[in-house]
Amino acid sequence: ATPTSIMVGTGKAAENGILFKGGEHLERTHELDAIVLDKTGTITKGKPEVTTFTADRETLQLLASAEKGSEHPLAQAIVAYATEEEVALSDAEQFQAVPGHGIEATVSAQTILVGNRKLMQDHGVAIGDAEQTLIEMEEAGETAMLIAVDGEYRGIVSVADTIKETAPDAIKALQDQGLTVMMLTGDNERTAQAIAKQVGIDDTISEVLPEDKAEKVKELQLQGHKVAMVGDGVNDAPALAIADIGIAIGTGTEVAIEAADITILGGELQLIPKAIKVSHATIRNIR
Ligand code: ADP
Ligand code: MG
Repeated sequence: ATPTSIMVGTGKAAENGILFKGGEHLERTHELDAIVLDKTGTITKGKPEVTTFTADRETLQLLASAEKGSEHPLAQAIVAYATEEEVALSDAEQFQAVPGHGIEATVSAQTILVGNRKLMQDHGVAIGDAEQTLIEMEEAGETAMLIAVDGEYRGIVSVADTIKETAPDAIKALQDQGLTVMMLTGDNERTAQAIAKQVGIDDTISEVLPEDKAEKVKELQLQGHKVAMVGDGVNDAPALAIADIGIAIGTGTEVAIEAADITILGGELQLIPKAIKVSHATIRNIR
């Protein structure tokens, strides 16, 4: 590989908004055969909105006050919804995120739990006949969360996050380049499948705890794959670091950008097949 052709390649990429951290990444990009994309904020816009809330106003007040302590996009959607509904929030006395499962907080001396089935199971909360509603929302690609106050199930809050308009074309281009394309998410399998279907992805790896994302990438590497990981969140950083090529979404967190080998500006997924195209053109020219 001549340094000049590598410089021309990374230069051409940069003109298109694809920032390689070093020339060596161009060569490894050329060798990729699998690509794993995070769901929220990578395939979707990462700006979820509340579509359904089944409980009363008092529960909304507790729910949103509890979520105020969370950085998660799901939490921001809930707080925005409560604000629209003109519910005044209070400060939680206590707040704890339960990674991959939800949150636990104390508001006005009441214990609030918000999260998935696992969170409720772990706290022994019976969810009554909520299962059917959950399934319906998940089949629509939404993330439905259960709410409990003082150990008692109160209702569901469901949010929808729309896919990026360019995601289906970008994924098609990656598949046409011969890559195995997969989606990785902490969200449940039904929601994951619904979103994957909308963008043309067949393989989903769902219900993955934040700390286990890197492990999933490692497993693919042990199967002999050269893997790219695409992500935006703090949670994605270890997986971006361990992947053969880590690709950060420019609109994502600083932590993800630091861990990655490539950053695509503006979160435009079309830049990923473009980066691969540039790598092929450059490396083939060298050889
Ligand atoms: P993702 O890969 O989409 O970022 P996470 O691992 O962050 O997913 O979250 C997995 C699941 O945990 C969510 O789908 C949701 O059910 C639950 N969860 C996470 N954070 C929150 C929160 N702040 N409030 C309620 N539920 C949450
Ligand atoms: Mg994300």
